[in-house]
Amino acid sequence: MSDASDLYQQVILDHNKKPRNFGKLGQPSHQAEGFNPLCGDHIWVYVQVGGDGHIDDVKFEGSGCAICKASASMMTLAIKGKTEAEALALFTDFQSLLRGDASSERLGKLKIFSGIWQYPARVKCAALAWHALNGALTDKQSVSTE
Ligand code: ZN
Repeated sequence: MSDASDLYQQVILDHNKKPRNFGKLGQPSHQAEGFNPLCGDHIWVYVQVGGDGHIDDVKFEGSGCAICKASASMMTLAIKGKTEAEALALFTDFQSLLRGDASSERLGKLKIFSGIWQYPARVKCAALAWHALNGALTDKQSVSTE
């Protein structure tokens, strides 16, 4: 096993066991439900956008496989404090990453998912939280990866 896949396993396991920003937001300005029928992942993403357009808080809840939960957990860390526009740009970069293009510098720690395009069945698990975030910020209440 290569170092990269070792690290991937460790990060996924850690975030799956201790998901960051897991729970509900009291009064989210945006929220969306995301469902991945392929795997059964079902999560909600809550976003609090402040008056200045920055994401003041973001949380998620629901149930999903390890990759889904780890991806959602890492997404909350990546976008908290960013503007809506920056978060949506990162969503686009992450979509490219899941197709095997890890060239964006903005991805940072999210590059851990750079090998996942080799496992098409898991790509939707990793993408679900981001689709829900995109749905929330563009006022779609529910999104499905199908
Ligand atoms: Zn899944």
